[in-house]
Amino acid sequence: MSTAQVIPPRSGAAFDLKRGQYLTVIDPEGRQVSDLLVFNADDLDEVISSGRTLDYASRVYLTTGDPLYSNRSNVMLTIVEDMVGRHDFLLTPCSKDTFRIIYGDTDPHRGCFGNLLAALEPWGIAADRIPTAFNCFMNVPIDGATGAFTVEPPLSRPGDHIRFRAEMDLVIALTACSALQSNGGSFKPIHYRIEEADDA
Ligand SMILES: [Zn+2]
Repeated sequence: MSTAQVIPPRSGAAFDLKRGQYLTVIDPEGRQVSDLLVFNADDLDEVISSGRTLDYASRVYLTTGDPLYSNRSNVMLTIVEDMVGRHDFLLTPCSKDTFRIIYGDTDPHRGCFGNLLAALEPWGIAADRIPTAFNCFMNVPIDGATGAFTVEPPLSRPGDHIRFRAEMDLVIALTACSALQSNGGSFKPIHYRIEEADDA
């Protein structure tokens, strides 16, 4: 088993993930969100799509067995293992604007949005090309009648993980989320591991 890579609190990383490889996103301390972005490595205009994925799943909460689709309706990742069963795919990455508008910060942190953008800079991906991320471990319960939702602490316990299989050659960007409300009031690291099919 390969060594886990560490994403420090309130930061991000980006890396290649080849078709057939597995990505495991681990919450080492518990109650920490990780925003996941996915691009087709061969054509960066093909990108993960919340709208298409939720439409095809007919469900808002995704888990083991669910595919994550691109804006071109190709499967980019499949969730192959999920120890938590509650993730968000509705809300935008937290950003300077999130902290200004929701938290009233006067000198806001760049958030997951800024961290994703910085991590993707080597691939030349600009801010306007960043879509809604798949927010691993983010807990957003929804009132089925009114559609009202709240952002609650993640249900993940220390060491819990979610594992994905790459269905095409991908560029992945991943964060340790920077929003207090999403992470039970404290900022913690995220770990991840890339594995070949044989050692997953
Ligand atoms: Zn965030």
